[in-house]
Amino acid sequence: MADEAAFAAQRVFEPYLRDRGFVNGRWIEAQDGRRFEVTDPSSGRAIVSVPRMGAAETRAAIAAAEAALPGWRDSTAGARAKVLKRWAALMMERQEALATLLTTEQGKPMAESRAEIAYAASFLEWFAEEGKRAYGDVIPPHRADNRIVVTKEAIGVCAGITPWNFPCAMVTRKAAPALAAGCTMVLKPAEQTPLSALALCVIAEEAGLPPGVFNVITGDGEDAPLIGKELTSNPVVRKLGFTGSTEIGKLLMAQCAPTMKRISLELGGNAPFIVFDDADLDEAVAGALLCKYRNTGQTCISANRILVQSGIHDAFVERLAAAAGQLKVGNGLDPAVSIGPLIEPAGLAKVERHVANAIDNGARPVLGGKRHELGLTFFQPTVLVGVDPKMAMCCEETFGPVAGITSFATEDEAIAIANDTPYGLASYFYTRDLARSWRVGDKLQAGIIGINTGFISTEIAPFGGIKESGIGREGSRYGLDEFLAIKYRCIGGIA
Ligand code: ADP
Repeated sequence: MADEAAFAAQRVFEPYLRDRGFVNGRWIEAQDGRRFEVTDPSSGRAIVSVPRMGAAETRAAIAAAEAALPGWRDSTAGARAKVLKRWAALMMERQEALATLLTTEQGKPMAESRAEIAYAASFLEWFAEEGKRAYGDVIPPHRADNRIVVTKEAIGVCAGITPWNFPCAMVTRKAAPALAAGCTMVLKPAEQTPLSALALCVIAEEAGLPPGVFNVITGDGEDAPLIGKELTSNPVVRKLGFTGSTEIGKLLMAQCAPTMKRISLELGGNAPFIVFDDADLDEAVAGALLCKYRNTGQTCISANRILVQSGIHDAFVERLAAAAGQLKVGNGLDPAVSIGPLIEPAGLAKVERHVANAIDNGARPVLGGKRHELGLTFFQPTVLVGVDPKMAMCCEETFGPVAGITSFATEDEAIAIANDTPYGLASYFYTRDLARSWRVGDKLQAGIIGINTGFISTEIAPFGGIKESGIGREGSRYGLDEFLAIKYRCIGGIA
């Protein structure tokens, strides 16, 4: 895209562009002044540089969050809700600017960025209200002269570590329940996309969030382990919320063990997307298109294994390839584009490895299969048939615009393939048979099941996985509980 378009975009998001971390309501540099560049994956150009922070800056941020805790925690849920709702409303007022920044640092098309800003704001709005409903219990006592009362209280200072695929929504999905519950937070955004998190701080400040309640520490890939080590070992931090790879999730869980922190981990997935012969073909194709190609396939709930029953297989492949072939690849700032670049060269290399492995082992491309002529990390929308469940693309998350299709004969076979993975985040299937929809839904091992839909993300429902896809839930009332500790009072001597 021409320089002019990039400059025009920069003018739109300039008021929300910050090049420093945000701690205790102040914009701060790294102690040693080191910085790293954030680049636009659609052009390869540097947008701005931000500080490379480490353990010392993280410790200072934790201290700020600790100092801010009593004032915030001991205010009312109603008072906190006012600030969180103002924050959400201001985000929506600045939706275009925030979306433009998001597309510039992450690459997703503008329509998806606008949707992400709205999704991100929805967590603030929803948890603002839900914080008022952190009800306890009164339990009939075990002795006549006792009373039993259960209350829920803010767990304390929390840490958040977020990924690059949803640079805004993964932040508020953690911060909103934490802050609504009365906790304070130190957050480390992904090194590829820190700018959306910093823009959120600009707006939080404007909304009246007190200093120290929400803090953002930036660092590059080499700094992440140092920041992570401090966040997970510092005894002041009582809870970690993490979204990212299963590998790093396991590491952080181990690091949290010595100080016994609460954790919620949203990790990798390997979502099956099953189309039965009795599916509505149009709906199944539309669902697969969304579920596979949204965010260029870079979501942990993206369809990673598309299993199609033999009777509908050929018609489904033909329709999906035709629809995917229409998707325009390019810079997400262009309104006609619906497939952006992959986030970085390592992502491109993985996609190429998966496609090569599949083709070497007998799969056949019916669409795409190669890097896009635009260069950089752009990849063609791809459909492969004859994909075997043992191929690399069925065992690891591809995180790219590649639909690998496996044909199956029976319901039992589909369920067996679907569950043959250590992961258990999302699963999808399409059928018009009511009994089958319950039966298959019961048998699929996943925390999230999409039945006749490829879009399951909403702030009002619990998002999270089983097996090696993680622990805990985000969104919904279950998401609030993750930031609350239960206290039971036994009152004796009531004669
Ligand atoms: P991805 O493969 O999607 O980039 P990661 O799990 O590597 O997933 O990254 C998710 C988040 O975890 C990012 O913010 C990243 O900087 C952070 N991260 C990576 N390694 C560590 C680590 N050792 N300690 C703490 N955070 C880390």
